[in-house]
Amino acid sequence: MKLSITRRSLVLVIAVITLGLIVSPLQAEVGDPEWDHSQHGEDWGSIEDADGNFPYATCDAGQSQSPININKVKRVRLDEIQFNYHPTELTIVNNSHTIEVEYESEPASTITVGGETYTLRQFHFHTKSEHTRNGRHTPVEMHLVHENDAGELAVVGVQIKRSHRTNQAFEPIWDRLPEEEGPAETFEGVFINAQDLLPKARIVGDDDDDDDDDHRADYADIATQDAQTFDDDDDDDDDDKRRLHRPYYTYDGSLTTPACNEGVTWYLLKDFNTMSRAQINELRAIESTHNNYRLTHPLNDRTVHLYELHRDNDDDGDDGDED
Ligand SMILES: [Zn+2]
Repeated sequence: MKLSITRRSLVLVIAVITLGLIVSPLQAEVGDPEWDHSQHGEDWGSIEDADGNFPYATCDAGQSQSPININKVKRVRLDEIQFNYHPTELTIVNNSHTIEVEYESEPASTITVGGETYTLRQFHFHTKSEHTRNGRHTPVEMHLVHENDAGELAVVGVQIKRSHRTNQAFEPIWDRLPEEEGPAETFEGVFINAQDLLPKARIVGDDDDDDDDDHRADYADIATQDAQTFDDDDDDDDDDKRRLHRPYYTYDGSLTTPACNEGVTWYLLKDFNTMSRAQINELRAIESTHNNYRLTHPLNDRTVHLYELHRDNDDDGDDGDED
């Protein structure tokens, strides 16, 4: 994931420094040394600042770093991620490390998962994907960065594959991709909804038995479905127990850009989104998003959990233990 210094966050940083408080990982600190993706993060830990310190030492020394390769997972019964996204006027910035869309909807756009609610602050793009599955990248990965009231971060990762079709949901952004680094620009009257950028949700029945063919997952376009019409409570006895389902991998990780702060909860959606070769090439043609991915890091003593109600027959990362 990437962070940018917007005017708002600069004001915050100055306010926080004045108060002598700890800076949230979402605000870059003024005076931190430059870094780039030329070595995909391998050099960040050894970047020295003017005082002879290594402000990005965690990038090397951290034991819970992101991204990771996903090849062994533990299936567990977790919570569905509840997406409560709303439209926002398009504000987009090329911050030299990525293309980022700042998110400030009214009401706030949130996810709720595991009893925690996080507010969507921004989303941005990497080429190639940062996470890999069995060592394989996708051409693009989108990171939706959320923060809770305690300042803890949760990032929803969406890996994007190539398709023969243009993904129209991205077009309002792709029509306005800033090719050069510069300040954030707001496009009046242009609204986007991050909900539209997620892969299609599955519709599942109330029975999550992997062997039950009567309730095989099928697919629905989230944009045409009202999530509230689907019963989400296994214990109540309404007739319609279908609901939207987005399987995901989750693990404890870090920011994937300096200062590589840990304590970030990752939710990598299992289902892919797609965009056309032309759309991928447009992103790759911009210096800020050309190969702006960090190499994967060791899992160490962490476990990747998979929440999925029905087993797929596909090949990505499903060789883990049954719960
Ligand atoms: Zn990112």
